[in-house]
Order: sequence, then C-alpha cells, then structure tokens
Amino acid sequence: MPAPDLDTIVSLAKRRGFVFPSSEIYGGFANAYDYGPLGVELKRNIRDAWWRAMVRERDDVVGIDAAMMTNPRVWIASGHTETFNDPLVDCKECRQRFRPDHIEEGQYGEAERDAEGNLRCPSCGGELTEPRLFNLMFSTQVGTVVDEGSIAYLPPETAQGMFVNFENVRSSMRRKLPFGIAQTRVSFRNEITPGRFIFRTLEFEQMEMEFFCRPDAAAEWHRYWIDERQRWYAETIGIDPARLRIRDHEPEELSHYSAGTSDIEYDFPWGWGELEGIANRTDFDLKAHSEHSGQDLTYFDEETRERFTPYVIEPAAGLTRTLAVALLENYTVEPDEKGDERVVLKLPPVIAPIKVAVLPLSKKNTLSPTAKRIHALIRSHWMTQYDETQSIGRRYRRQDEIGTPLCVTVDFDTLEDEAVTIRERDTQEQVRVPIARLVEALRERLPGVAG
Ligand code: ATP
Repeated sequence: MPAPDLDTIVSLAKRRGFVFPSSEIYGGFANAYDYGPLGVELKRNIRDAWWRAMVRERDDVVGIDAAMMTNPRVWIASGHTETFNDPLVDCKECRQRFRPDHIEEGQYGEAERDAEGNLRCPSCGGELTEPRLFNLMFSTQVGTVVDEGSIAYLPPETAQGMFVNFENVRSSMRRKLPFGIAQTRVSFRNEITPGRFIFRTLEFEQMEMEFFCRPDAAAEWHRYWIDERQRWYAETIGIDPARLRIRDHEPEELSHYSAGTSDIEYDFPWGWGELEGIANRTDFDLKAHSEHSGQDLTYFDEETRERFTPYVIEPAAGLTRTLAVALLENYTVEPDEKGDERVVLKLPPVIAPIKVAVLPLSKKNTLSPTAKRIHALIRSHWMTQYDETQSIGRRYRRQDEIGTPLCVTVDFDTLEDEAVTIRERDTQEQVRVPIARLVEALRERLPGVAG
C-alpha cells in the first residue's frame, strides 16, 4: 500500500495521543512537538529495540549516557564551532528565512527565479539576500557571570560523548578493537525547516554508535553496518524494503570528518529523505581530541605490537524521524469484519505502544471485577489498556488505529466458563481461551515482545 499523505498521519497522531504541537494553547512553537501518552511509549519501544540490537545482544558494543553540558572546547575540537553551518537567505520583503538548497530542491513548490536566474522568495516572491552562513548550534550561558568563558553549547549530535570517553570506556571495560560505544539522547539544531511534522525539528532524539576499529578494517565494517542497519529498519520498524534505499554521498557533500558516508533513505510522501547516516569518520575525531586536550587517544594492539589511532564507523539514526516513518509506513486502510473501512496501524508488536487491550463487553458491574482481575494478570507482563466505554466494535476500531496487536474481550460467558476471547489485529480472528492459559496464549502471539 502506498504511504498515506502527511496530513493523515499528523491528524491521527494528534487525535490518538501520539504527537501534539508544542505549547499548542499558546499558538504552538515552530518545529517543536510534544509526545503524548502513546507517542512516548512508541518512542521508548523504538529506542529500546535499537538498544537491544546495538548493545544488549552484542558482545562488541557497550552503552554510555554522557552529559549534555560539556567543556565548549569539545565543539572546537570536533569542528562544530567552525563548520557546522547552513547557508541561509532572507527575504527582503517578508523577512522569512530559508535554506537556498531547500528552495532549489522544490521543498516549497517549484522554485521561482528572476530574469537573472536568482531565486525568489517561495513565500511572497520577494528579493532574497545573498546566502550567509549560520551556525546550527544553540548556545547558552552557564553560571551567573556573562562572559565568553561561560558559554556552553547544546549538543547538536551525541557522538562527541563517545569520543571524549573513548579511553575511559576502553580501560574500564578492558576492551580490545573492534568495539563500539552507543548512546541515545536529545540533540538540538537551530534549523530552518519547511515544516514537515517531526521529520526535522529543533530538538530531536538520536541513536548513535561509534564503532572503533583498525584502519585497514574500516571499509569492511562500514559495509557491515550499512547492511545491519538496513535490515533493522525492515524487521523492527516494519518498513517495506522497496521504500528503503542506500545513497552514497558525493565527494563534495561529505562532512569534514568523513572518508565516505552512506545514507539509509526512506521514500517519504515528498520524496527520498535521510533516516540514518553511516559514516566512515576515519581517525579524525580521536586525533582532533588528542590534539586539543593533550591526552593520548591512541591504541596499542598487543598482538601486532603496533600503536595507532583507531578508525570509526558511525551509524547515526534519528529516533524521532524513525517514529514518523513507523506511523507513515504502518498506516493501512482495509475492510473490517463487516466489510466497512477500518484504519489499522500495523506496527510490529515489539514497537506497538499498547500490546494488549482488555475490553469488557459491557460496563455492567457484574463483569468489572472479572475484567479487572484479568487486566491485573496481563499488565504484569505487557503494556495494556483497559477500555470499557462505547460499543465493542468501536473499541476494536480504536485499538486497530493505535496499532494494538491483541484485544482480550471479557463477556458474560466468562463468568460461567472462565474463558475469554483473544482478537488479533491483523487477521481479525477471534479465539476463545481459558483464563488459566491466557498469558501463555498471549505470549505465543507476541513472540519476543517484552513489556
Ligand atoms: P539532514 O541531512 O536530514 O539534515 P544530517 O545528515 O544533518 O540530516 P546527521 O547529522 O547524520 O543528519 O544525523 C543523523 C540522523 O539524525 C539523521 O539521519 C536524522 O534521522 C536525524 N536528524 C538530524 N537532524 C534532525 C532534525 N533536525 N530533526 C529530526 N531528526 C534529525
């Protein structure tokens, strides 16, 4: 099924409690969003699935959680203060600001030009200024005295936490190459965006891993991580591989630290866009931090008796961007049991916000104690929702729309036969199972799904 348009997803996200515009009662705040009760679960589940695949299930990767506030010299060494810039143009008439490459790519509709071929403002057609470079980092003051020494930067990526802790992690965990350090965290970028929901925001979560290896093994590990990560999107987020592609950066596009970057791209409703960048960062970062900090960040290989600076392969993913794709990709419209239309969010159960909904057939007091007992039994195993309002058909529709893989219906027969009905989201099949076997029956239908 083709991906739905963005408005459909934005509306579902708001209506069902996934994503709300930030500070909406004050008219919102451009390019910032809040995650609602279901959004926070979905986000947590994607993050946990990434953490399991990248850290828990591997012997060669460990995790960290580095402070956001760092010595500002970190950002000088990394090159961010100098080079983390976007060229921007201002409209002389309406004063809006744009990235000229976004105008050229048609992100605001077909680009308009004047007789000399200069771009015109996509909003009002006015004259644009020459491009000027703007640094994307947000800066803030630390302490009470405002001077240059009190400036701190909000992190625009998580990677530097891994580089500055390379030696701490290596020695405390007695690691030998190759090994990786992973982290998930919020990053901040002062970006100008054409307003595509949570695709590009000022504040977003990233899931990054720095994989340290011998320089002569870097090309092979680069290939390995591209394949691994592509598979993860298909298997864990449920993305049709036909809507994923790998795009190698052109030499002129490469970041200052990169010897090669390949993006995993998704076919968004507006065209291909990046989900994750996998870069061969060479020895740039460790060398730069060695030089600026005066600390030795080389590695001694005991087998070959060589000392060298490790190379780094970095798979850098956007958690919040992946969440947008999970909604877009799994949104399905199909017939229900009666042949009417139903909307189903076919999220893989591992990432679904609610795993099991408990639905007493009627609100009557006679059913409630039994239904609540069953709810208590299930919620100690999985994330659940208890819902007793409205008709059962409408409640199934609501659970389909938020992607709940299983519903457990408690009816008046339950009081007699101590059995309940399990209804599956995707097949709409219903089976009757004894309460004594319920957890086992749910587990069979939720393989590998914890919590
Ligand atoms: P883009 O080209 O889209 O600006 P990038 O190449 O600057 O992305 P990276 O620095 O490689 O992005 O960051 C890794 C991932 O972080 C991206 O693939 C994306 O999923 C996510 N990401 C980057 N910037 C944002 C943002 N402003 N909002 C949401 N996610 C982002």
